[in-house]
Amino acid sequence: MGLTFHEPIYIDRGDLVCMPETAPAVDHAFQSTCFWLSDSPPLEGEHVTVEFGPTSVRATIVALRGAVDSSSLAPSTTVAQYALVDIELRSRGPLPLDLHTVTPSLSRFVVLRGDEVVAGGFVTATTAHARHDNLHPATHLVRTGDRELRNGHKGAVIWLTGLSGSGKSTLAMELERKLFARGAQVAVLDGDIVRGGLNSDLGFSQRDRGENIRRVAEVAAIFADLGTIVITAFISPMREDRARARGCSGERFHEIWVDADLATCEERDTKGLYRKARAGEIEAFTGISSPYETPAAPAFTVATAIDSVDVSAERLLEYVVGVTAL
Ligand code: ADP
Repeated sequence: MGLTFHEPIYIDRGDLVCMPETAPAVDHAFQSTCFWLSDSPPLEGEHVTVEFGPTSVRATIVALRGAVDSSSLAPSTTVAQYALVDIELRSRGPLPLDLHTVTPSLSRFVVLRGDEVVAGGFVTATTAHARHDNLHPATHLVRTGDRELRNGHKGAVIWLTGLSGSGKSTLAMELERKLFARGAQVAVLDGDIVRGGLNSDLGFSQRDRGENIRRVAEVAAIFADLGTIVITAFISPMREDRARARGCSGERFHEIWVDADLATCEERDTKGLYRKARAGEIEAFTGISSPYETPAAPAFTVATAIDSVDVSAERLLEYVVGVTAL
């Protein structure tokens, strides 16, 4: 069987095609029951790999919720080899998950420590399942199409990604000004502003960075759905986090690579952060002590080490005007 898509999308091994009405939960935290094969027990906080069919992701054992000894079938406070154990896991990226009773193949997984298979298990609950059971979203009485008609353009998420100092904030603000001047409904979500408020509880661990991006992507998606052109300026260094952000907005999402090499960004050092990072005063600084995964297939790239602010902003404007039909 072959599939033809309207939009070019990049499909990875393990990606899933499904009908909207029977779509699995997409979540990164889930409860499971595992058959523990190893003679060394699972540890809370331990990093493992979980494999769902062809999909392999890094995950953390968040909590052990109880064990049953497989020979006596008595509850146990320790996890011996061959025990049944209820484990809460959190994966680095979102996974399509279903309960065993619904789609067994999306529920079964194995747990690995390095190359060693230490457990096999199945999903018993996802946080998304728990949430969705009690959610009854209201329907907007103003239709998106009507909003777009009034605004004179489509809603969009213009997702700027790039190293610190590559020019995301500068271009976001320039672009906002230009779009506003043309009468567009436009808003900027800027990293440092959002981190000062909505996400002030988050740090810079991989997990917190992921959560930072998740929240921004959700907010951006809500407003893009309501017809706004949302420009986001976040380093968003991990491909996986950006892919998840795309998942929130679908075809409205446009990944823009604000491309400037590390040497240029470090030379600019507009916020003095590279100097501090080199002096070891900032932990996990992107480009120095924490990775930046370059976009594999950005919708558009602005080369800010080569072009001026004016030229970059004009090019970006042209792209946005095109995709939003402004
Ligand atoms: P980021 O938000 O990516 O951390 P900033 O926008 O705060 O980066 O800083 C980028 C710096 O680079 C600014 O001082 C800006 O004037 C300069 N710059 C030079 N050329 C460009 C360009 N083409 N686009 C954006 N910024 C540029």
